[in-house]
Amino acid sequence: MPPNSPVPDRPGLRIAIAGAGIGGLTAALALAARGHTVTLAERRTAFSEVGAGLQLSPNASRILTDLGLGPSLRRAATEPSRVRIRGLASGRQIGEVALGPAMRERFGAPYLVIHRADLQTILLDAVRGRPGIRLLVGRSATAFAETQAGASLTLESESGRAETLAADLVVAADGIRSTLRACLDGRPLRPVGAAAWRATVPRDCAPPALRGDETGLWLGHGRHVVHYPIAGGERINLVAVLPQAGEDADWSAPGDPAQLRAAFADAAAPLADLLRLPEQWLVWTLADRRAAAPMARGRLALLGDAAHPVLPYLAQGAALAIEDAAVLAASLSGRQVPAALAAYATARGPRARTIQSQARRNGRIYHAGRLAAAARDAVMSRLGPARMTERYAWLYGWRPASDAAGA
Ligand SMILES: Cc1cc2nc3c(=O)[nH]c(=O)nc-3n(C[C@H](O)[C@H](O)[C@H](O)COP(=O)(O)OP(=O)(O)OC[C@H]3O[C@@H](n4cnc5c(N)ncnc54)[C@H](O)[C@@H]3O)c2cc1C
Repeated sequence: MPPNSPVPDRPGLRIAIAGAGIGGLTAALALAARGHTVTLAERRTAFSEVGAGLQLSPNASRILTDLGLGPSLRRAATEPSRVRIRGLASGRQIGEVALGPAMRERFGAPYLVIHRADLQTILLDAVRGRPGIRLLVGRSATAFAETQAGASLTLESESGRAETLAADLVVAADGIRSTLRACLDGRPLRPVGAAAWRATVPRDCAPPALRGDETGLWLGHGRHVVHYPIAGGERINLVAVLPQAGEDADWSAPGDPAQLRAAFADAAAPLADLLRLPEQWLVWTLADRRAAAPMARGRLALLGDAAHPVLPYLAQGAALAIEDAAVLAASLSGRQVPAALAAYATARGPRARTIQSQARRNGRIYHAGRLAAAARDAVMSRLGPARMTERYAWLYGWRPASDAAGA
């Protein structure tokens, strides 16, 4: 039976989800596909996504394909042939990770890059077209409670009007600054002293050497840059990570292009030319927090960044949210809600912690100083593209089990 049309083992549950980001939308689709009734409450009133890209590795693209989104993804996304890793100042090639057919053949699903707005549109269209999902916008989740009959989620509209949704379980998918996470784990977010600057430029304006169907990764001491084509190959997405103090994690804080250029004044020629192109940058101050322990209790489950933000050094935050959605839906098969959510938490906790710590480790490797960088470069160039891909088999080869016990 295809995973997008399973028959529930028992009458469907009433599920309230707070947050219609990538995780909440995917969870709504996965849960509705199993016969549950979903109410999805989103704080925003409009779904405008900032111009930025997202890498979707096979562990995530496989789940979205199983949900029936493969054709839309193929239309909107690009499949780069490789990641080409270079020294930021020297421009010298350090190594390569094989993507394209190598990923599909090895992991059975593609490694895609896509505009965030395109992915959101694909998910939203699917949610709006799926019976059993009700989308409420302009509603902030403010409180969760267990009741005699199940659970409740309190919402507040922009005008301050409060309403309460009764549900069998509540999913908190309300992002890195989750309101509901405090019900399970009150650890605060911790700024890491770095910021991601994001911009897009028309592909035909980019230096010819950087217009190819590949992802570029440029490593420097304390800094790195990633770029890849998005929007059906029409634009190039740029992410530059550099040291930066600050507490404010907001998608839309504008950055001064002159500051960015100064931080990369020593960049090799084609990269420096690319970094000069954007007139607008948006700055995301990076923050970290250990995965919630537990990720679920009673009738409340955390999902995505609300449960476990991932530093963007492994391109796995959204992928992990998509994995969570698939495992949560599978966990509910044939179990009472508290037992199902306990199984979900047991299945997801270790993987979330591993991915978080691998992302932190990648950050240290990417930003290594001179001696450590020389050792890193030697290892990467010795491994070659296929073995570099193979190092990620534990990550990209992951598949959701049909229920969480084996996930
Ligand atoms: C620079 C950078 C690059 C990245 N690149 C990648 C990448 O290449 N690949 C990848 O997999 N990940 C990447 N990520 C991570 C990825 O963007 C996040 O992990 C992902 O968006 C998390 O999805 P989410 O649904 O958990 O949260 P979000 O996408 O943040 O969605 C949360 C939703 O909840 C809503 N909300 C918030 N509070 C409330 C409330 N109280 N009530 C109701 N609604 C609420 C928000 O408006 C939002 O719509 C990157 C992150 C950064 C910063």
